[in-house]
Amino acid sequence: MKFEDLNLIRNIQQALSEQGYEAPTPIQEQAIPIILDGKDLVGCAQTGTGKTAAFAIPIINNLHRIVGSATKVKYIRALVITPTRELALQIGESFDTYGKYTNIRTLTIFGGVNQTSQVDQLKKGVDVLVATPGRLLDLHKQGFINLDHMHHLVLDEADQMLDMGFIHDVKKIVKLTPDNRQTLLFSATMPLPIRELADSFLTKPEYVSVTPVSSTAERVKQHLYHVDKGDKRKLLYHLIRNESLNNVLVFTRTKHGADNVVKALKKNGVESGAIHGDKSQNSRQRVLDAFKNKEIPVLVATDIAARGIDIESLPYVINFDLPNIPETYVHRIGRTGRAGNSGLAISFCGKDELPYLKDIEKLIKMKLKVIDGHPYPYSEETAKPEGQKPDFRNKNKSNNQRNGKSKPTGNNSGGNNSRKSEASKKNKKRWY
Ligand code: AMP
Repeated sequence: MKFEDLNLIRNIQQALSEQGYEAPTPIQEQAIPIILDGKDLVGCAQTGTGKTAAFAIPIINNLHRIVGSATKVKYIRALVITPTRELALQIGESFDTYGKYTNIRTLTIFGGVNQTSQVDQLKKGVDVLVATPGRLLDLHKQGFINLDHMHHLVLDEADQMLDMGFIHDVKKIVKLTPDNRQTLLFSATMPLPIRELADSFLTKPEYVSVTPVSSTAERVKQHLYHVDKGDKRKLLYHLIRNESLNNVLVFTRTKHGADNVVKALKKNGVESGAIHGDKSQNSRQRVLDAFKNKEIPVLVATDIAARGIDIESLPYVINFDLPNIPETYVHRIGRTGRAGNSGLAISFCGKDELPYLKDIEKLIKMKLKVIDGHPYPYSEETAKPEGQKPDFRNKNKSNNQRNGKSKPTGNNSGGNNSRKSEASKKNKKRWY
């Protein structure tokens, strides 16, 4: 199928061909006709499938008929709710790009920055508003946002909004919108609360699904390094230097962990930057730009901050920590091997993460390729059989005996917090 077959206005087709888009992606092929038809839609698709264009293009197509000449008074006619600032900015840019030859004005609003310029823009009038939930509700409460003329509502990355605790805000927002709206819900996974959300807020939706989350990109090689938690930074540095890895996206489970990796790399002369929720919007954008422009070889990110970041042809993804939700692994490695390029996903697995590894391998229905013979194998007994629950007690004891290093046990601790915190107090932050 070609874009010409989709009955789109020439203004959009021109913008798409300038972007070098030759054909719609599968989600676009399926979703665009449904949305143009005015129906509600549930799209099961993750970032990287072209889902943004799948909703932005038909919305622009419809709005162009209404907005027409630039002289008309502007009302918010489409509202896109998305969990993170980065995603909001990218969606806003997409509307600008695909709507380049229309008079549609898009505004992106998000929290963590001063509201003044957002309010000024709102007062001038916008057709499409892209927003994170908190800022939207805040500005609505202050009377700066009128949703009475809104027709298209997009709930993007719904499962992520659920994970981030935005689901109540999302429900509040939906209730502020007119009943006769068209509602489009996109989500990479479809847990029960998302299906319930769809059932209660969408009217006879059509369902489309691409790249189920359990299928990992075929072109991505997936390597596994068994390594003690305390040696991960050394191994990361070793790989970056010895394998001359450039353009590497490193995932950590926590914000603190991301900062620690950046510091450790810097100490050894490798420049990197971290993006996570505690960083200001400006600092996140600066780091992201530096990484995209190849000024820094390594970007360290938490899952939430990285969600939706669109970086073309990323060759390497490193899971510094294994995620405790197996689907997250699939999202992470989906950042490499895109658009016909090959990619390498490297995962570090501490002994306490073996249960996570088991869950991941079960989901993707394959075993990761174990790389032996690296300089930092497990220092004690060999890897426990897969699936065995981590034994924090023995681990701490043996680590303390070994070299005085404590091993904080990560996020999945059971009932041994006091032991854990004692151990970590003794040996705070030892940099590599
Ligand atoms: P998304 O899944 O919306 O994050 O899109 C992922 C990437 O695919 C973005 O960089 C888009 O610019 C790109 N893209 C979207 N649609 C197409 C298309 N039809 N052809 C080529 N690239 C596309």
